[in-house]
Amino acid sequence: MTEYIPIAALNQYAYCSHRCWRMFCLGEFTDNQYTIEGTSLHENVHTTSEIYREETFQVRAIWLKSEQYKLIGKSDLIELESGEIYPVEYKRGHKGEWDNDELQVCAQALCLEEMTGKTISTGYVYYALTHQRQTVELSQDLRQYTIATIGDVNRLIETGAMPQAIYSKRCKGCSLHDQCLPKAIEKVSRYQEE
Ligand code: SF4
Repeated sequence: MTEYIPIAALNQYAYCSHRCWRMFCLGEFTDNQYTIEGTSLHENVHTTSEIYREETFQVRAIWLKSEQYKLIGKSDLIELESGEIYPVEYKRGHKGEWDNDELQVCAQALCLEEMTGKTISTGYVYYALTHQRQTVELSQDLRQYTIATIGDVNRLIETGAMPQAIYSKRCKGCSLHDQCLPKAIEKVSRYQEE
């Protein structure tokens, strides 16, 4: 069993399993405009602080951990309001077509539930470009999907087995495109099959 899985790896896996393999098995990473903006955003929110904003208590940059799921990761923001506690994940852009950000919030909520003993029904993703908070309902479906992904990432990290790179719309903004060359790899695979 893998020691602890970084929560961020779940997000990457849900976006593209091949990208997750490159980052967390090979240790590859290359910045592009999107990742630089994302890193800069997280540098701003990853300064530990505790403040009251009206009735809401905000805690930034604390570590979240789950023994049950073997997860670990730094939160962007945890809020406590009217007896409820919930995670808020910061992202640079706007809501994409994929559910990787929701999955990341759900994984944070699983950690927080274990750490506090409270059930969390809702989390949020804050998109910096649009200044909007998207509500993430922590449904049974999302929880099951997150738990299944934890298992997938655990196997990936343990075995190091490379998932096939598959060209898709997701490749357009991917900072690892030039290492991965998914179109060329697909062509070579097709050629070998013929
Ligand atoms: S270029 Fe596409 S297939 Fe390759 S890592 Fe990025 S998203 Fe995945």
